[in-house]
Amino acid sequence: MNLGVVGAGFSGAVIANQLAEQGHQVTVMDVRPHVAGNCHSERDAESGVMVHVYGPHIFHTDNKRVWQFINRFATFEPYVNRVKATTGGRVFSLPINLLTINQFFGKTFNPAQAAAFIAAAGDSRIHDPQTFEEQALRFIGRELYEAFFRTYTVKQWGVAPADLPASILKRLPVRFNYDDNYFAHRYQGMPRDGYTAIVRQWLAHPNIRVQLDRSFRRAEAGSFDHVFYSGPIDAWFDHAEGRLGYRTLDFEPIRAEGDFQGCAVMNYCDDSVPWTRISEHKHFAPWEQHEKTLCFREYSRACGADDIPYYPIRLVAEKALLARYVDRARAETGVTFVGRLGTYRYLDMDVTIGEALETVDCFREACLAGQPMPAFVKDPLGA
Ligand code: FAD
Ligand code: UDP
Repeated sequence: MNLGVVGAGFSGAVIANQLAEQGHQVTVMDVRPHVAGNCHSERDAESGVMVHVYGPHIFHTDNKRVWQFINRFATFEPYVNRVKATTGGRVFSLPINLLTINQFFGKTFNPAQAAAFIAAAGDSRIHDPQTFEEQALRFIGRELYEAFFRTYTVKQWGVAPADLPASILKRLPVRFNYDDNYFAHRYQGMPRDGYTAIVRQWLAHPNIRVQLDRSFRRAEAGSFDHVFYSGPIDAWFDHAEGRLGYRTLDFEPIRAEGDFQGCAVMNYCDDSVPWTRISEHKHFAPWEQHEKTLCFREYSRACGADDIPYYPIRLVAEKALLARYVDRARAETGVTFVGRLGTYRYLDMDVTIGEALETVDCFREACLAGQPMPAFVKDPLGA
């Protein structure tokens, strides 16, 4: 078949690769001048540092199929994300672990003592936390919440934590041991040659044609037997129902000699500092040596029409609007909406790859059964 794939990010590139492997002719189109979407990485000419252009990306997963799949296209170096946070003029380890608790409260607790102390600090009147703030007050107590989470979250999301769902805070563990690994997944690492090199390999197939600087419009869909669309779902419909809300990021570069901050990610939890974090990209590649360094201060703000959409907001109003677009999408034929923009969900890279593989499985089954391919393989209104 003659298939169109909109977007050369992880979603589009994995789908294109798998379709091409099955013998289909695939055209991949991306409005940007490079492949890899938001995972794009490139070497900075001045320092030689591999830069994650759209913000730091660490690969972590429990999904063996995905880990084996991506390892066919990359050599992964060991990398463990260990985040630091500055609050009240002091530096701590995140996610909250025994070192954080002991340093913050000036204690020498063992795990059981720390767990009992934090349980007592939590607000036990909150039985079923619904909001970010309730989740924090229930499980870590007011002092840690105010030091590490309240202000950072307002900077990151632009709304009060009482208006955000508990699910956002649930992404972070609280540990009563000294494990300071930011992620709890079995597999974690960093691709030695960056993410864009992986995507280039996915797309380097004789059945795939890549068109960059190429904006795709819905009216062109008829020139393909089927389109896999990883652009924003509201843009497919020319924002007819209104714009879905996103947060965008601004990155302010800092160049220096040597080591700027001594770690890859430093969060800033106070409101005296307008940025949320500084990432120093050479620390994402500890196997490399660079005399110069390049860091980025990261600022979060509401996403305008000409900005890059990063984080879907998914509050009540956005979900109601999304439901209207999902209804419209289900009435379309010849297109499947995929990826973080096509389904308006925050997706880590491993989930993105897993869903892309599932999408192609579903397409093959639909073709074999003579059934139409659905608009969604994952319900955007689900979790
Ligand atoms: P994208 O990468 O956004 O690709 C979509 C592509 O479609 C874009 O290149 C866009 O230009 C193109 N496009 C859109 N509309 C059109 C159109 N009309 N015509 C042509 N092209 C179009 N995940 C992790 O696992 N670990 C991390 O540490 C991590 N860190 C992150 C940090 C930040 C700041 C953010 C925002 C995300 C992070 N992620 C991380 C998530 C990761 O970025 C996503 O999983 C991944 O980018 C999703 O890929 P995608 O292909 O669905 O979307
Ligand atoms: N968070 C915070 N302080 C921090 C780190 C995280 O308040 O130092 C909050 C913030 O609201 C963030 C959420 O915890 O969105 C989840 O953290 P994660 O690292 O998953 O955030 P991301 O940057 O991926 O949104």
